[in-house]
Amino acid sequence: ANAMLSALPTTIFSVMSALALEHDAVNLGQGFPDTEGPADLIDVAAAALRDGRNQYPPLAGLPELRAAVASANLRFCGIEVDPATEVVVTCGATEAITASLMALVNPGDEVVVFEPLYDTYLPVLRMLGAVARPVRLLPPDWSLPREALEAAVGPRTKAILLNTPMNPTGKVFTRAELEFIAGLMARHDVYAVCDEVYEHLTFAPVRHVALMSLPGMKARTIRIGSAGKSFSMTGWKVGYVTAPAPLAALVAKAHQLLTFTVAPNLQRAVAVGLEKDGAYFLQLSESMRQSRDILTQGLREAGFDVLPCDGSYFVIADFAPLGFGGDDVAFCRAMTSTLGVTGIPVSAFYDPNGAPGPRTLVRFAFCKRPEVIAEAVRRLRRAG
Ligand code: PMP
Ligand code: GLN
Repeated sequence: ANAMLSALPTTIFSVMSALALEHDAVNLGQGFPDTEGPADLIDVAAAALRDGRNQYPPLAGLPELRAAVASANLRFCGIEVDPATEVVVTCGATEAITASLMALVNPGDEVVVFEPLYDTYLPVLRMLGAVARPVRLLPPDWSLPREALEAAVGPRTKAILLNTPMNPTGKVFTRAELEFIAGLMARHDVYAVCDEVYEHLTFAPVRHVALMSLPGMKARTIRIGSAGKSFSMTGWKVGYVTAPAPLAALVAKAHQLLTFTVAPNLQRAVAVGLEKDGAYFLQLSESMRQSRDILTQGLREAGFDVLPCDGSYFVIADFAPLGFGGDDVAFCRAMTSTLGVTGIPVSAFYDPNGAPGPRTLVRFAFCKRPEVIAEAVRRLRRAG
């Protein structure tokens, strides 16, 4: 059997969701909305099934979805994209990340990643024989450590893998930080893979900036989005990659090996979603901002130190002031079993073979109905 997969633990998100179910806990762990996405998209998807959209669509994605991805790039980020050659539709951002890294790296290539990091990045890099070079961001503001980044980029660096808005920190990379990264990329001839699945989930006055939109960056950037996040349909698993044509062609080859195509009825619905007016996207982030505020205030009242969150649907809280004796994993288990609230231990977002990260931080998801967040807060405050 494959040694790397044999050693890979089950993802923390599934582990904590199962534990939440077992204890009938309010699950603010795994990030998925507890309300349906837009009803009109569900209608489009259902109608497309009945209309006979049930056979293999084109490998790179339905033309109408590729066109919608291209126009969304222009509308939201000012990036000009050729839908015929520069867009590939994938099974969620998860496949997009793997396919993009497959497209870029050869064994031995170095890829810079930022810790804390999303749980697929390191295992996929290792399966590809790439060498991950983690650069650690530090709480509470997780600002870019420029010297450490500069030191991590060298002649063997092939790419920088970047997630903004960032899971689990809620950090949104600033334009100045992205300009610094862009400068390094140009100087060292390095590519970027930008996981921007939370691009529409930023909270005013902070706004998402796509690295790909900076001068000279389009030719060396692969940008990834997800309908799961932008339309609150995480089960649909429709992702999209924007890349310069030569790289998009390689991403498409990787996609050919991994899954080949994506459910055509869902692609059709996501195409309609991406054409929605600004009011839809504004409402999405505004309702998420309200949920962030309710949860932040509740966690503070329950005695946590709450870290800043400018984007994504996650907020990190420090339980150190509560005087709990164990680490974050023990805390999350105890919080689930004795208080009935589930979060994700932030240590899960660090390289298990690296130096230990923070040990008193918990990630809470706030993509939940206000009454669900209120119930979680009630349970936590009862304990305090
Ligand atoms: N990247 C990040 C940072 C995420 O948070 C997620 C979703 N949890 C993904 C990628 C995967 O997205 P998808 O569900 O579209 O595969
Ligand atoms: N991306 C979601 C999260 O961070 C969950 C994804 C998953 O369950 N694999 O919670």
